[in-house]
Amino acid sequence: MNGFEERLRQFFRGEIRLREPMARHTTWQVGGPADFFLLPADRDDLLALAGLLEETATPWLVLGRGSNVLVSDAGIAGAVIDTARLNRLDFLPDGTVRAEAGTALGHLVDEAARRGWAGLEYLAGIPGSVGGALVMNAGVPEHEFGDVVTDALLVGEKRIMQWPLERLGLHYRGSALDAGHIVVEVGLRLVPGDSDVLQRIVAEMLKRRSENQNVCGANAGSVFRNPPGGKAWRLIDEAGFRGVAEGGARVAPQHTNFIVNEGQARAADIRTLIQRIQREVERKFNVCLEPEIKMVGRDVADNGR
Ligand SMILES: Cc1cc2nc3c(=O)[nH]c(=O)nc-3n(C[C@H](O)[C@H](O)[C@H](O)COP(=O)(O)OP(=O)(O)OC[C@H]3O[C@@H](n4cnc5c(N)ncnc54)[C@H](O)[C@@H]3O)c2cc1C
Repeated sequence: MNGFEERLRQFFRGEIRLREPMARHTTWQVGGPADFFLLPADRDDLLALAGLLEETATPWLVLGRGSNVLVSDAGIAGAVIDTARLNRLDFLPDGTVRAEAGTALGHLVDEAARRGWAGLEYLAGIPGSVGGALVMNAGVPEHEFGDVVTDALLVGEKRIMQWPLERLGLHYRGSALDAGHIVVEVGLRLVPGDSDVLQRIVAEMLKRRSENQNVCGANAGSVFRNPPGGKAWRLIDEAGFRGVAEGGARVAPQHTNFIVNEGQARAADIRTLIQRIQREVERKFNVCLEPEIKMVGRDVADNGR
């Protein structure tokens, strides 16, 4: 591919996997192969990689923990950049935190609570990476990641840039970050709190999740955004989809905004079920349900954002 692989092997210190099945890297456990699956060793490796991708016009996609993506069965053309090894996390004495994009959100939440810094405890139990949490503005009712974000370090527009919060355009389960940006590091500002209290809140949030989201099967959390003033799960339920299946995919009987892979689902099954729900909810209630999850891959036009 445009001499990409040969040049990559000259400098890349991370891991290179060819034709890597994306089903291994998504919480839905579906998705065909990525031509190149790349794990940069650190920030410098990532920056050099970004330069080569740009020069060789190789298409690319960044992946955090794959907990909010539906990768098509046809896989991904070009490179998938997995940020897992960019996981440096620094807490400064004034409550400032610098977290690299591949840091697990759960680790950040636990560390903040343990060290007595408040602001992230209600996000306990959301899977994913710091980069994914920023792009998606992950959250729960009343609390979102963006509440504590100050800025982010990004690669895009052929350079490395520091964007302040206002520029990131964080909104309900989304941001202004388009597919041309790689989040390298996120800056946060936390406030002092009592470590015991914060750790109790974390434990309570985890308990509530295991009770309320007790679904059987691989999934990607909520599939649809809540429409203004409404609840996606209720519309899906009232449209008659509780427990409805398509191939190996099923609307979770316990939580109708979750679609589970019962073991043999293809991405196409999940996508078809999503489209069936959208059509029926629109027909019955005149509401257009927007997917929260990102659909990416060879047969998806916009690669997610
Ligand atoms: C069981 C379960 C429960 C969940 N509960 C919640 C919840 O309560 N609230 C909530 O908001 N979400 C929830 N989610 C969804 C998901 O965990 C979040 O959206 C999370 O923030 C996604 O992070 P990720 O690293 O997995 O992102 P991915 O799925 O890997 O990627 C999501 C998007 O972000 C982009 N991206 C990721 N990293 C970067 C980067 N470094 N630079 C540029 N772009 C990047 C990807 O290209 C993609 O477009 C849940 C998911 C599951 C499976």
